Amino acid sequence: MAIYVQKFGGSSVADAECMQRVAQRVYDTAQEGHSVVVVLSAMGKTTDNLINLSKQVNPQPDAREMDMLLSTGEQISVAILAMALHAMGAEAVSMTGPQAGIATDSSHTKAKIMSINPERIMANLEKGRIVIVCGFQGLAPSADIATLGRGGSDTTAVALAAALKADRCQIFTDVDGVYTADPRIVKQARKLDSIAYDEMLELASLGAKVLQSRSVEFAKKYGVELEVLTSFDRTPGTIVKEEVEDMEHIVVRGVAADKNQAKVTIQRVPDRPGVAATLFKELAAANVNVDMIVQNVSEQGHTDMTFTVPRDEINRTRSAVDGLLEAVGAAGAIYDVDIAKISIVGVGMRSHSGIAYQMFEALSEHKINVEMISTSEIKISVVIRSAYADEAMQVLHQAFELDKNSKPAS
Ligand code: ADP
Ligand code: ASP
Ligand code: MG
Repeated sequence: MAIYVQKFGGSSVADAECMQRVAQRVYDTAQEGHSVVVVLSAMGKTTDNLINLSKQVNPQPDAREMDMLLSTGEQISVAILAMALHAMGAEAVSMTGPQAGIATDSSHTKAKIMSINPERIMANLEKGRIVIVCGFQGLAPSADIATLGRGGSDTTAVALAAALKADRCQIFTDVDGVYTADPRIVKQARKLDSIAYDEMLELASLGAKVLQSRSVEFAKKYGVELEVLTSFDRTPGTIVKEEVEDMEHIVVRGVAADKNQAKVTIQRVPDRPGVAATLFKELAAANVNVDMIVQNVSEQGHTDMTFTVPRDEINRTRSAVDGLLEAVGAAGAIYDVDIAKISIVGVGMRSHSGIAYQMFEALSEHKINVEMISTSEIKISVVIRSAYADEAMQVLHQAFELDKNSKPAS
């Protein structure tokens, strides 16, 4: 019997009616003769609401307690779906992440899955039961519950698919696949039939929240082919898979925006060995994820150093940097949260030149100023004012004609 892993996101399980729709879909899959493991997110906006609740009683909640709180959302979902399936006459059993054998590291609120013991899930599948697992959680070495970071249910699904050697891994969401850009922002965005792991990984890490980037890392590492599709009707979705040769014919596959970044500039840093090491060592110790780093031309033995960090890590960054300014001899620091990072992604960029020029020209024609640039083999990212983020996405989508089907590279 084939094993199917089916993951349903928050909006797919938002209320009782949605739960019944999901139950029907899962039931149909089981009736086709497959073993089904379901992974669920919390219902609707539950996770956001729980975070808001916590902030009302403590502006900086303890990470372990945060995990105790947030993990409850998924627990509601799995129990309700099990009940809906029972009402349809199906055999189903719900499990928390720990009950399903998912072990994580100890980084509360952004834990990584370390291992999965699939015995209990397998034993239940063998008894003909549908197994419903809480997404986004596992058991830390301290025997405490830990969560996997926002959007982490995607990663639970892919990791389970790898551990169970599943035949299919389907990610059901509120759009019918992966698009050339967020369809809520770019109306002309086009659904892709397929996308390479590397392209999806870049898009996801650069702000396209349709999949958590770690889930794509897992999928690539273990060769799990993913299908992203809607839970609201039966249209086919997008396949995320190994790169095939003709994918390079498309230069730019998609555009993404990350509006949760902040920019830090350390002014007039002495231009001598060891300064960058001192700064970034301190930021690493403060658990800050530094991304783009730019150091401008040095002038009279001094230089400005600019880098980006996730916006919700700006307070930690500020404490680390402010404490070092004097020690490294810098003049001061500027913290800027009104920025966005806009990126274009495509494996075809490896073999084509002039893409950066086209990107900068399109932005300049719309008077959008580029403040920072970073590139890799298959992506170009720029930092701009956050107010222009949506416009920049639309401009780039049009400049690279992403609304047209498979524009071959010239
Ligand atoms: P779920 O709750 O099912 O996990 P998410 O809200 O996390 O759903 O992700 C789905 C959302 O991702 C869509 O509603 C869409 O607005 C957004 N999105 C961003 N970029 C893209 C893209 N390139 N293709 C499809 N959806 C995207
Ligand atoms: N409920 C969690 C969140 O909202 C995990 C998920 O939905 O994937 O981020
Ligand atoms: Mg999600």
